[in-house]
Amino acid sequence: MRQAFFGHGASRGSALGRARVRLPHALEVAEERISPAQVEAELARLHAAIETVRGEMHALRERLHGALAHEVGEFLDLHTLLLDDPELLHGLDELIRTGRYAADYALRLQRDRIASVFEAMDDAYFRSRVDDIDQVIGRIHAALHRRAGEMQGVAGEILITDNVAPAELAQLQTQGVLAIVTSAGSALSHSAILARSLHLPLVVGAAQALLKINDGDALTVDGSSGTVILEPNADDLRAHRSRVREHARERKQLHRLRREPTRTTDGVDIKLYANAESREDVAEAHALGAAGVGLYRTEFLFLQRNELPTEEEQFRAYRDVVLGMTGRSVTIRTLDLGADKADRTGLALRDEPNPALGLRGVRLSLARDGLLETQLRALLRASGYGPLRVLVPMVSSREEIRRVKRMLDQVAADLRHEGHEIAEHVPLGAMIEVPAAAIALPSFIGAIDFLSIGTNDLIQYLLAADRNNEALGELYTPLHPAVLRLIRDVIRLARARGKSVAVCGEMAGDPAFAPLLLALGLEEFSLHPATLLELRRAIRGMDLGALRARAPALLRARDRKAIEAWLRAN
Ligand code: PEP
Ligand code: MG
Repeated sequence: MRQAFFGHGASRGSALGRARVRLPHALEVAEERISPAQVEAELARLHAAIETVRGEMHALRERLHGALAHEVGEFLDLHTLLLDDPELLHGLDELIRTGRYAADYALRLQRDRIASVFEAMDDAYFRSRVDDIDQVIGRIHAALHRRAGEMQGVAGEILITDNVAPAELAQLQTQGVLAIVTSAGSALSHSAILARSLHLPLVVGAAQALLKINDGDALTVDGSSGTVILEPNADDLRAHRSRVREHARERKQLHRLRREPTRTTDGVDIKLYANAESREDVAEAHALGAAGVGLYRTEFLFLQRNELPTEEEQFRAYRDVVLGMTGRSVTIRTLDLGADKADRTGLALRDEPNPALGLRGVRLSLARDGLLETQLRALLRASGYGPLRVLVPMVSSREEIRRVKRMLDQVAADLRHEGHEIAEHVPLGAMIEVPAAAIALPSFIGAIDFLSIGTNDLIQYLLAADRNNEALGELYTPLHPAVLRLIRDVIRLARARGKSVAVCGEMAGDPAFAPLLLALGLEEFSLHPATLLELRRAIRGMDLGALRARAPALLRARDRKAIEAWLRAN
């Protein structure tokens, strides 16, 4: 029967496919015993499922190519190792043979047994292995319940789950998943940012979907409105087809703007930089005529792997970005691990009571011996190949910037001494995403060359509203007078001191907010290439002088409603 579910559109695009439901990590399996006569058949069923999973992973490994092969491959190798682990397999057999448990329940018992051993370890790296155990056991469990003859791959499927980790997304897309619907999550999470970058439709916060949708149900997903339709009727199918057509038409129209300037109606050129995480993003940014890369998030080099990337590996990755932009400016951010970007190398702490306020960003980089130094060496070496700027995340004090600057100077001297060709001056910038940094900016602006305002975090810290918590609803918003005033103050000071300033949070990527940022004095935006042309089109219809003339009225707005009214009056 047709049923509609509503969540939040987190990544645009329309999909039609079969549902694949992935239940939350802990297997909800009731205790079930079998008779002695059933033991052999149950063992055979389990081993057939394990073989299926092995085959799926092998097939996926074969299909991977390019940059993804490297990233996802290591992750797959680890899962294959776990699948062959004699302890895991022997334990399962014993539970079925001696304990007379059904295979499902044996999986759950074995999962809990292994997880408790890992969870008791002091080492964060080993504790993080529980996620891998869950994923491997989850795959076997899913394979146990697949009917004979059913497709084993997941191509053409829409994943329904509680939440999805950034590290999983690329793999899911490679497997052919068409869209993802989660019961939790937020449109501002890193997973959502990555989904937009992969053009993978994502609906978050569709709480009922996980309860009501079953494997194999037909679904349509609209990643713009956040609507999921179970067993769509003829009207829904027509609506889906028309969205697909509309999307294609819009892309074609936007495509024509690739070589056009981002010029307001009164003739001011606005700079649009790209946020990038991968080589594909860099290529897209270049093709769309981005002024450069405004934010390259290096943490993705550190995720999904067990050892830290070496200096050489980092150098090659950063050099690729610089070469990919053929002389346009490239801003690379030093590592911002921690909070919702936990790695597998054990660098970021796993059990911080309050990770968003914990050891993340530059705090972590400065706390781990050699980590920042290696990264700065790689960055400076890449600066020999084209214009490169270094951006520091999560700065909250002058002291942090001074420590990074001292290290940068030292590393530059060392590299020159070693005979490396590096740029004469590599500009150093600070992310302004902690309110303290915005307020104390006059105390350290002299020590930096440029600024980038990270509204994703700035909003969450200023409004005490978690960017990943859907329950907060509209409490997390750029449309708050405190947010606008703080952004205005940062832009004004930067301009007065002749420092370039951009906004690189998601606020910059939403054309609906562009009038606000332009009115507040912004002339540089950094956003994901997926929406770059849309923003260019919107700005080409705006009158900068008129917006700036209305800035005082905007700053007098006392609440969200008044700010929305200001926006409507444009
Ligand atoms: C931000 O906080 O706005 C930002 C761009 O950084 P990230 O989203 O990577 O935390
Ligand atoms: Mg941030």
